[in-house]
Amino acid sequence: MKCSVCSKEAIIEVRWKGKAYCETHFRGYFLGQVRKVFDKFGVKGKICLALSGGKDSAACLEALTHLDVDVEALFIDLGIPGFSEECREAAEAIAAKLDVDLHVLNLQANYGTTIPSLVELEGKKPCSMCGTIRRYLMNKYAYEHGFDYLATGHNLSDQLAFVFNNLANVYLVPFREIGPVLRPREEGKLVGKVKPLYYLTDEECKVYSELAGLPICEDKCPYAETATTNLMKRWLHGLDLEMPGVLRRFAESFMRISEGMERDEEISGCRICGYATTAGVCKFCRLMRRVRRKSRG
Ligand code: SF4
Ligand code: ZN
Ligand code: ZN
Repeated sequence: MKCSVCSKEAIIEVRWKGKAYCETHFRGYFLGQVRKVFDKFGVKGKICLALSGGKDSAACLEALTHLDVDVEALFIDLGIPGFSEECREAAEAIAAKLDVDLHVLNLQANYGTTIPSLVELEGKKPCSMCGTIRRYLMNKYAYEHGFDYLATGHNLSDQLAFVFNNLANVYLVPFREIGPVLRPREEGKLVGKVKPLYYLTDEECKVYSELAGLPICEDKCPYAETATTNLMKRWLHGLDLEMPGVLRRFAESFMRISEGMERDEEISGCRICGYATTAGVCKFCRLMRRVRRKSRG
């Protein structure tokens, strides 16, 4: 297989474009897709990137260092034995290699709890609690430290798996969150959200992070087996092989739906912490309140 631009040996086929690329031209394609999110939606200002230590957020941070954006990274230590330490070391090494400032937030130090102790106390699915906590803490940190946007390493495969997972559970609210950009909303102390890898698949992100030689953490979270999202991803990637480009077309359709829904939902400040909620008290504060009660009694 030859590169469609320069006829050197290709390293990857980008099926939706009907093209294959060598290392140099793949990097150009990848950065072009990232730049497109910023240009198309006019995302500007100070960006806080949620760095997990994994391939996607690492690739995202590396790509942002090539764009004209002011970026810093944030790592959240969830207190998952073994896994969190490995991820933290990787995040530190990645940030050092890319010469980006890294901030670390520790769940145990700040809130006296960890994901394993929450799982024990609540007996609920770890990933939904973990998602609530990470979303809350990332936004709070970015808001309090004057960032305009919070960037995450969600790629095209993640987005679609998330949406189909919700559809499979007859859960539609997050549709408004599936576009590449969500504007800031002062009424709920919400910073803007941007997903620079919105147009790039799992495979493209993996290849890019390998080419960039980033010291990522390859360990899997011990709770990852419970993520039904992985099942969805396998199904979606299979479908994309049969119907090249279908993932992007799904994303385009969902993005249009989300544009219509973005402003529909009424949000207000949580009675306890002041951050966004559609109920009186936000999910994070409700979780922490239950944890405190259960720990006491
Ligand atoms: Fe959190 Fe689940 Fe991801 Fe583990 S697999 S880090 S529990 S969301
Ligand atoms: Zn080439
Ligand atoms: Zn709250």
